[in-house]
Amino acid sequence: MARAERYPSHREPDAPPPLPFVPGEVSNGEFVPAAPSGRDRAIVRETLRRAEHAADRLGVDRRRFLQTTGGMAAMLATINLAGCAASTSGSAPASSTTTGAPGSVAPYGTAGPAFDPGTSSTAPGPGGTFEVPDPADTEACAQALGSQGEFILDVHTHHVMPDGPWRKVAPGIESMIRDVLPANCTEADPLTCLDRTHYVQDLFLASDTTVSVLSDVPNSGPGDAPLPFTDAVGTHDFAASVTGGGAPRVLVQSIVAPNYGDVRAHLDDMAAQVAGGKVTCFKAYTAWGPNRQGYSLEDPKVGLPFVQQAHDLGVKVICAHKGLPIQGFDERFNGPQDIVAVAKLFPDMQFVVYHSAFERATVEGPYDPARATRGVNSFLKALDDNGLPPSSNVWADLGTTWRETMSNPTQAAHVLGKLITRVGADRVLWGTDAIWFGSPQPQIMAFRAFQITPEFQQRYGYPALTPELKQQIFGLNAAKLFGLDIAATRCAVDASKLAAGPAAFRSLVDEGAVAEPWRARGPLSRREVIQLFRTSPKDALPL
Ligand SMILES: [Zn+2]
Repeated sequence: MARAERYPSHREPDAPPPLPFVPGEVSNGEFVPAAPSGRDRAIVRETLRRAEHAADRLGVDRRRFLQTTGGMAAMLATINLAGCAASTSGSAPASSTTTGAPGSVAPYGTAGPAFDPGTSSTAPGPGGTFEVPDPADTEACAQALGSQGEFILDVHTHHVMPDGPWRKVAPGIESMIRDVLPANCTEADPLTCLDRTHYVQDLFLASDTTVSVLSDVPNSGPGDAPLPFTDAVGTHDFAASVTGGGAPRVLVQSIVAPNYGDVRAHLDDMAAQVAGGKVTCFKAYTAWGPNRQGYSLEDPKVGLPFVQQAHDLGVKVICAHKGLPIQGFDERFNGPQDIVAVAKLFPDMQFVVYHSAFERATVEGPYDPARATRGVNSFLKALDDNGLPPSSNVWADLGTTWRETMSNPTQAAHVLGKLITRVGADRVLWGTDAIWFGSPQPQIMAFRAFQITPEFQQRYGYPALTPELKQQIFGLNAAKLFGLDIAATRCAVDASKLAAGPAAFRSLVDEGAVAEPWRARGPLSRREVIQLFRTSPKDALPL
């Protein structure tokens, strides 16, 4: 294609070119990731090999090819093959249910994740697969992975204010946030790469996201918050100022830590924030607190007054971080039991379990109530224990959970299958933890292409991920939760000053003026992880 010939063809430096995403663990600013596994490194190698092959066929630079939908297709196809190997729980021979070139499974060998034999030993094939075209078929890849016109409401996003007092007060937090900086950040103050401007670029120019909910990390107030409430409102106002008619495009979430100091003062702050008219929902980190003491949302002195105050102020959505243990967290309060129990107590409110209680240390398999103390299963068990049926007032957020499982299609199938069937097809919410991992676009494209295999659908009663179901998860569910008028919001976004942005941004990318619109963030090699360990204090403050 003529366009392809305009790509610069420069000599690649020795470092591996950035992939669309990193296959293994990536810090979300809350912990230091594990070193890439043999499987992760095999995925990287094989993706680079395939990208080189496709880029040669197209006559383009491999580095640049990896930042196209074709590069994404190459990576997802590689993960399909790794999924075949991984689904066979360790050393068992690979299944033949998914086709691949002869010998194509070999690079992964027995390097798949150590599957819990109790949950996956009977699973003969991969649970999920990415349906992607030939990476060199530019048109087909753009069609399959590009926008399908979905309304995408990302319920879990972040940025920081680089000039805030938190950098002096909470150096541990700053150190952890430095872990998620993009490697190609050239700003004098690197935290600028995670600021409001980069947020708007990554979310609304480099990705198909329509509306976002802006969150923050654990903090006790404006003094140590990387994104104090008033600055989150500032981002809301900025986004509204460039949206047609000033309609909201960034929804504001207020973090409350009622276990710090006087509860009454927190309740008053909540009232003052709500009076300003910008609070969409409140969020709690129940496993975080002074002297590393967490609390329960059911605690009559701390948790319940917080929930009751939100209720009385008319803010009917409460979110809580659950799962994904953060350094220094109080494990006792990191499970989803309290938020689900409180949901039962407040039937006219809505409760969002952030991360869906997913945690990396637990391999996700089918739901077994007898073995449901950790991970997504603990969330389902809490619903059972409280007698809450599907589609009740409890919702599941996919932030980081999808990013972490999308390179393991079998686990991704279990996570999505369980959440959709048990929490409800109308209760699963799109979340990405952007911009910690960069633009959410790779996660969006991967979700468009993902399918639960017919075998898993039959075996576990999981649904097919139809385009309608994906539209629900991408944004229709969240629009209902937050009471957004989809048609009006879409009109406002289409009429906005940013509306021409994505196309202009794409042509800048095509011209090579923007190097990597959604390059992976995170260590690709063992050496890079060791570097991270060196720069991150082991005992950093919790995020
Ligand atoms: Zn987050």
